[in-house]
Parts: sequence; C-alpha cells; structure tokens
Amino acid sequence: MKSTKFSTWLENMKLSHPLVIAGPCSAETEEQVLKIAHQLKDTDATVFRAGIWKPRTRPGNFEGNGAKALPWMAKVKKETGLLTTVEVANAQHAKLALEFDIDIIWIGARTTVNPFAVQEIADALKGTDKIVLVKNPINPDLDLWIGAIERFHKVGIKNLGAIHRGFSSYKKTKYRNNPQWQIPIDLKNKYPNLPIICDPSHICGERDGILEVSQTALDLTFDGLMIETHFDPDNAWSDAKQQITPARLNEITEELKVRKNNVEEVDSIERLNELRQEINLLDKKLIEILIERMEVVENIGQVKKEKNVAILQRVRWQDIMKKVVDMGEENGLSKDFIERIFKSIHQESIDHQEKIVNG
Ligand code: PEP
Ligand code: MN
Repeated sequence: MKSTKFSTWLENMKLSHPLVIAGPCSAETEEQVLKIAHQLKDTDATVFRAGIWKPRTRPGNFEGNGAKALPWMAKVKKETGLLTTVEVANAQHAKLALEFDIDIIWIGARTTVNPFAVQEIADALKGTDKIVLVKNPINPDLDLWIGAIERFHKVGIKNLGAIHRGFSSYKKTKYRNNPQWQIPIDLKNKYPNLPIICDPSHICGERDGILEVSQTALDLTFDGLMIETHFDPDNAWSDAKQQITPARLNEITEELKVRKNNVEEVDSIERLNELRQEINLLDKKLIEILIERMEVVENIGQVKKEKNVAILQRVRWQDIMKKVVDMGEENGLSKDFIERIFKSIHQESIDHQEKIVNG
C-alpha cells in the first residue's frame, strides 16, 4: 500500500475542530438512544455512535439489541442530523448496516484481529462509499492493524480511518487498554493522510482519565476522538465506569487545546530550531554512549568466553536494573520507561556477547 490514496472524507466535513464521535457504549432502548442523541446536538459531536452488537468478554452480559436497534439509529439521523456509526463484526451485520444506511461502519478491536471476519465485512461493503474506521487489534501488532485497513482498501473502499483504543495487557496498569502511542504514530508515519481517531474511553476504562488521554492524542496530531457518552453513565448497561454525560463532553472539548499542526505557523521558529539542534546533539551523544557501552560489553564477553561463564548473570542484571530505576525515579523518569530502555539495552548486550562467546 505504498502509494495508498485515501479519500479526504474528513477534510470534506470542514470541521473547525477535531472530529468528535460520541454516544453510548450500547444502544439500550429507543428512548435512551434518542435522548442521548438530542443532548449531543449541543456539543461538538458530528457523529453518533452506539453499539448494537456487543462483543462481551464473558457470556451473560448485555450483548446488544441487534438489528432491532437499527431503526433507532435512522431516527437519530432524521431527528438530529448527526451522522451515525455502529460496530459490525461479520458480513451479516455489515449488510444490515447498509440496509439502514448507517453512515460510518466501525470495526471493533476483537474483529480486527481476525482476517477472515475482516475480509467478509470488506466483501459485504464492496462497491459502497461508506466510511470505515478500523480499531486497532487487541494485541499491539501494527501489521495486523494495517492488514485490516488494506483489506478494505483492496475492495475499493477509500473512505478509511483508524481508531486507537489501546492494547490489552496481562499486567495491570492504570489503563484498561494500554495506549502504546508509538504504534499509531508508526501508522501515521506510514500513511500520513489516513485520519486517526483516539478512543480515550476504552483506553481509560474509567471517566477520570478521559481529558488527559484526549489531550495527549491531540498533542500527537490525532484527527478526532470517539468518546462514550450517556445521560446516566452509572446506570449504563455496559462500560458504565467509562461513560460521561453530554454536559461533561462539552466541558472536555472546551478544555482541550488544539495545537497548530504546522511548525511554519508558529512565530518562534528560531527558538524551536535552536532547541532542535540541542536535541540532535543529545541524540548523537546517546548513540555514542551506547556504542561505548557495547564495546565494554564485548570486552566482558571475551572474559566470559575465556572463563566459560554464562552470559546471563541474573543477580548482576537485577542489581543494574534497580540502580537505574532508582536513579531515574529520583529525577522524574518513570519506572516503566527506564525498564523498557534497559531491557532493550540488555537484549542488545546479550546479542553482542552471544556473537563473541559462540562466534
Ligand atoms: C466499543 O467501542 O464499544 C467497543 C466494543 O470497542 P473495542 O472494540 O475498542 O473494545
Ligand atoms: Mn464500550
């Protein structure tokens, strides 16, 4: 997809702010759907979302109203003028969404992981001009995400976008789904004209973090936000903890700072250039230090080879990790960051020593 052309569907909307998609996690009843949609009329939301087929982790939870809720979405569009979007997970869902003229189809994280499901949805949508938004797969796999986008592109769907909703991890973190920002940034670098939207609701899993994650997304030049919204979040039938009211959505969009995308627009270009020079020098130093470190590592490798000592010295390694984490934390660098960097340095060191010991 090197020369991939995506349409300018988002630019064509001519919004004065990032795209806002809002609405409940699930369409619960016709009244609930319409009440929320009417409240969203007075916000920045352009698109109304509601899940009607709900992929639930465990059976026994509310799994959506299914096709019965499609006419409710049509009513939302007619009464409020909001565009509509639902998640589809198979070809049958896609056909039904087309029948009820849903404007935007989104592919859920649990579907993006499954190329068979993605392909059958792509085939069902072939020949239409629907906008398709592809959520990242549950696992942090950029190729799988790109693969799903490609399947739509290949059948001729050009109105495409991606949604970053964070990645599942076994380790408990403060997020429900970890935002590994480098992955959507890599996607953006590969396809600069593919709109990318952030879903802070599913990243946070609770409503308190939504403003902060949304701001981070905008700082990283995301093109829009998908935020779960309900008039009575605490009593929502799914994802109650992470939904916010339309009034809170308004507060959030007012508080969010949309920064200029283009450095040329910034007055103080010179100051920025100076600082960038500084960064370039520091990066050069970092690389030089890493080269120097690897030289020492290789010398140690020689000694290990001569003395027939194992490459991995667990206690020594734990000792190093503790020291650097403590040092970092004392100076405002997170444990997670230092651990990631040093695990990676350690891996490279092992690779260098392997070559010496076994080479
Ligand atoms: C949703 O948006 O309600 C949803 C199920 O999202 P995800 O696919 O990101 O889990
Ligand atoms: Mn949800």
